[in-house]
Amino acid sequence: MSSIAVYPGSFDPFTNGHIDILYRALPFFSVVHVIVAEHPSKEALFTVEERVAMIKDVTSKEKNIVVNSFKGLVVDYAHSIKASAIVRGLRAVSDFDYEFQLATMNRRLASDIETIFFTTRGKYFYVNSSGIKDIASYGGDVSAFVPPYVEQKLKEKFKK
Ligand code: ADP
Repeated sequence: MSSIAVYPGSFDPFTNGHIDILYRALPFFSVVHVIVAEHPSKEALFTVEERVAMIKDVTSKEKNIVVNSFKGLVVDYAHSIKASAIVRGLRAVSDFDYEFQLATMNRRLASDIETIFFTTRGKYFYVNSSGIKDIASYGGDVSAFVPPYVEQKLKEKFKK
């Protein structure tokens, strides 16, 4: 079995909650690919390229993190790099229903790939990308929720 994992998400933007999950998953794998989903139908604040750039900036010191974008099925991307696991994070019970469905679907599509969940650290329980975008859009301080690079990019976005 390979010890390669994918950590897929929208990451619009990449938050301290995402970072926590990523760095806690990292010791269990030789490589983790953080992959930014391109959803043509889902409206995002940041382009896929911007999101890839922010994740690369934040993780630049780690040799075993690869950052990429993808279109299509996570399991297809996972197969293409011979990954054996999909990493996801869980916050509240409200995440569970969606994540359970997703993991079950993915297992039906690819039984050789396991979804592995990391539960959030208490302090990131309420950290989510939508809330952060709302606060930033009104000029609020989001420095406790995102890394400095992302904070800067949010400021630039909402200045326009
Ligand atoms: P999605 O892929 O559903 O668009 P996100 O890109 O926001 O969601 O998040 C990717 C993954 O990280 C999901 O499994 C989500 O539950 C998890 N996640 C997001 N924020 C946190 C957090 N604060 N703590 C733990 N897990 C989180």
